[in-house]
Amino acid sequence: MHVLSTNNLSKNYGTVQALNQVNIAVPPGAVYGILGPNGSGKTTLLGIVMNVLEASSGSYLWNGQSGNEDQRKRIGTLLETPNFYPYLSAERNLEIAASIKGHSTADISRVLRIVNLFERRQSAFSTYSLGMKQRLAIASALLGDPQVLVLDEPTNGLDPAGIAEIRQLIRQLHASGKTIIMASHILDEVEKVCTHVTIIQKGNVKASGTVNDVLHNDGPAQERVIEIVAEDLQLLRDAITGLQQVKEVISRPAML
Ligand code: ADP
Repeated sequence: MHVLSTNNLSKNYGTVQALNQVNIAVPPGAVYGILGPNGSGKTTLLGIVMNVLEASSGSYLWNGQSGNEDQRKRIGTLLETPNFYPYLSAERNLEIAASIKGHSTADISRVLRIVNLFERRQSAFSTYSLGMKQRLAIASALLGDPQVLVLDEPTNGLDPAGIAEIRQLIRQLHASGKTIIMASHILDEVEKVCTHVTIIQKGNVKASGTVNDVLHNDGPAQERVIEIVAEDLQLLRDAITGLQQVKEVISRPAML
């Protein structure tokens, strides 16, 4: 049975169609990547299955059942950066998170060890690097020992060392038997940490399957990956051209 399956999920924001009949099926134990450029609908998809957003049409099942609150409580999520208190220690912040979520505080040392922050548990959150902050956010998602984790762009904004640590942590969580569903706009990231992938573009699923089948074999799926990457490169070129124009304007002598 699939951990999560969606049936023709669609979502409109006014006239913007963010998702168009999206079907995904996440097998137990997978690290399932939702891969697509910015604005392709990844956050919307995760928001719907976590019941933060309502679908315009379609449905989804968690472990074959229509989601209920109890079930969702057993899923660890990192959809946006949690609000930790800057001047409190990491440990104290997790105590607060645990009491809000109704988890026992006995779990805190365990999750701090998993994310490799146990030694730094007494330090104020504000002294943490961005990578450590993100690992603390994952620690918070791990409270209550959920079997499933849902992570939206878990390495966004981190430096290369921070990215490597989070990727390593995801591999480690996978090895410990967790099912992980993660959104990413980085092909390389999905290749490196995911077992399965759905490629989504402008709300439409372009390809789904194991990373090996979708990203490594020649065939129609690969052509679509190339198309999407090419589109992203074009966006990047446009952004660079835009920046150059801004620079030119700035460097022009001021008109007096
Ligand atoms: P991604 O996570 O892949 O960057 P999103 O799910 O955030 O994509 O967005 C998908 C599309 O829906 C985009 O076109 C975005 O502009 C639009 N969108 C997202 N949230 C809203 C909202 N609250 N209101 C209107 N449009 C939205």
